[in-house]
Amino acid sequence: MNPNIRVTIWNEFRHERYNPEVMKIYPEGIHRALQNGLSPFGFEVSTATLDEPEHGLTEATLGATDVLIWWGHQAHDEVDDGIVQRVQERVLQGMGLIVLHSGHYSKIFKKLMGTTCALKWREADEKERLWIVKPTHPIALGLPEYFELDEEEMYGEFFDVPDPDELVLVSWFEGGEVFRSGITYTRGQGKIFYFRPGHETYPTYYQEPIIRIIANAIKWAASDRGASPFYGNVKPLEIITPKVTP
Ligand code: ZN
Repeated sequence: MNPNIRVTIWNEFRHERYNPEVMKIYPEGIHRALQNGLSPFGFEVSTATLDEPEHGLTEATLGATDVLIWWGHQAHDEVDDGIVQRVQERVLQGMGLIVLHSGHYSKIFKKLMGTTCALKWREADEKERLWIVKPTHPIALGLPEYFELDEEEMYGEFFDVPDPDELVLVSWFEGGEVFRSGITYTRGQGKIFYFRPGHETYPTYYQEPIIRIIANAIKWAASDRGASPFYGNVKPLEIITPKVTP
């Protein structure tokens, strides 16, 4: 159990309200499916969505969040720049951030990466095989060396992100492409995990290995970061000998 880790799942929550195909898979929204999947791990899980006031990401909510999960797609541009700034500041202060699937194009991920975060994609109901390429990483705990999703959207390289701190998962797709599917970063005091699977027309967030990886990533992103750094003007630790000019 992880009673002290406070998780907020943020979801755009548009496809699930307006697209009958998606509604069938996620009748209560992707955020509820994730919440139901993650709750047995003992986290304190709450949710927030785009159409709530301040997108559900008030100062108080973010202040009480150890790890924020982000799913967005068609409405990235509707996310208020001030809220993006607020989330970025919390990440720099040490809040963990897990960005899922099409969140690669979210304002917050692009801001934290500083690159276009562009990639190749295709919707062709193809098989995805995910390989664990860093089995010693906490995010890979309890996983087999690979697992498969019968149908997913394809994301292919080149993925325009900075070189990650750690590469945990690599995907292969039936159509031939490969993709860095599980990558980690640190920004300021915050730990960031990008995790690829999760296209809205497939039941990906009901799959056991997917939920396990997200749960592992929550624990990793919330883990101790050591002493907070001090910034600013400081007194010297030793006496600095005055320089004598001859
Ligand atoms: Zn997608």
